Amino acid sequence: MSVQIQSITGMKDILPEESPLWQKVENTLKQIMNSYGYAEMRMPVVEYTSLFVRSIGEVTDVVEKEMYTFDDNGDSLSLRPEGTAGCVRACIEHGLIHNQERRVWYTGPMFRHEKPQKGRYREFHQFGVEIFGISSAEIDAELILLTNRIWKKFGIEKNVTLQLNSLGSSEERAQYRDALVAFLEQHKDSLDEDCRRRMYTNPLRVLDTKNEKVIEILKDAPKLSDYFGEETSRHFNRLKEILDANGVGYEINTRLVRGLDYYNYTVFEWVTDLLGAQGTICGGGRYDGLVEQLGAQPTPAVGFAIGLERFILLLQSIEAVKTENPVDVYFCAAGDEAIKQSMVIAEQLRDQLPEIRILTNCSGGNFKKQFKRADRSGALFALVLADNELANNEIGIKNLRVESEQVNVKIDTVAQELKKLLLGVN
Ligand code: ATP
Ligand code: MG
Repeated sequence: MSVQIQSITGMKDILPEESPLWQKVENTLKQIMNSYGYAEMRMPVVEYTSLFVRSIGEVTDVVEKEMYTFDDNGDSLSLRPEGTAGCVRACIEHGLIHNQERRVWYTGPMFRHEKPQKGRYREFHQFGVEIFGISSAEIDAELILLTNRIWKKFGIEKNVTLQLNSLGSSEERAQYRDALVAFLEQHKDSLDEDCRRRMYTNPLRVLDTKNEKVIEILKDAPKLSDYFGEETSRHFNRLKEILDANGVGYEINTRLVRGLDYYNYTVFEWVTDLLGAQGTICGGGRYDGLVEQLGAQPTPAVGFAIGLERFILLLQSIEAVKTENPVDVYFCAAGDEAIKQSMVIAEQLRDQLPEIRILTNCSGGNFKKQFKRADRSGALFALVLADNELANNEIGIKNLRVESEQVNVKIDTVAQELKKLLLGVN
């Protein structure tokens, strides 16, 4: 036997047992998007590397070390590490945000070459929303309310907290940057190598270090909020007011700067303490400069992305969602003619009762064997068709979960009977 080929480290299969939960999450998210009037976007998985370098920023974890980049006949391409860059690129390319508002969502796989661990993979899935052409605090609030609705819909609102910060305008950040660098220079010897390197290239990123020693030092660092002008303060206060009015709690976290370069004003994360170090299940914020940075006219924008694996791990860890067994009825048949007829009747039942899930026995065997398979499938009822039932124009129905006898009914009433038994409809 030859050596088996395995999946790539950090890239997971989603198995049939898990997919009902994925589907439930995806369907619910779609339904919520509908209720807010947002439309879906589907972008390619591969883009020019320069798109990500220009939008995410050169000195970020993602671009410095996490991208899957390859040469395609002289072009440098990358697997998308996130959705915003591609979404903005597509919206500009198709003229979707030129002098108009646009609210879109997307979902799909993202790729980052990171050290795989629980909640951190090399292929993972995001569900994201992006809004273009609206600069108000109201729309920032709507996005947060929308995420809050998602948690409530799944009954996990008690397991997540909202961390909120404002990064101010780029001018305010530039002023702050000088003060921060001056402070960091004074403490240079106590910083780790990563922070020392970032100190000049991207000093704000030093603020979100995970190094406890540096966090301690940063307690005395100058505060970005001391540099806020009137507009930044107004925007931030208005956002908080709307969240308060909706009863959405939050913690102001001044160390929250987010991993990507393009944010300004509002940034937020939803975090849980049930997933260890990978506790951020959703991150987002305002990025008014990005559209212009990518070559189009200045357009305000705000968005967020949920890490679906982490969201699903959280749902599983507290058993928040019960998913149903995928089969209702297992159709047993024996004898050439009866098997053929079972395939005809199963098709008719699927016409009549599209919501009922029917598994046909297509691998022969006696009834004992077939009932074993029926039991294993998780079906609630078995349909039974052998030559003698067929001769009477009947079909057997057997409850697989309660000790009971098989009941025979006329073939043309089976749909009605199943409806009664499974859907409680007379
Ligand atoms: P982290 O700080 O955990 O590395 P990030 O800031 O890099 O997260 P974003 O770029 O904001 O993450 O992506 C949005 C969300 O996507 C994250 O909050 C997280 O839920 C999810 N996510 C990011 N990277 C991964 C990954 N490698 N595996 C699984 N989920 C991820
Ligand atoms: Mg990361």
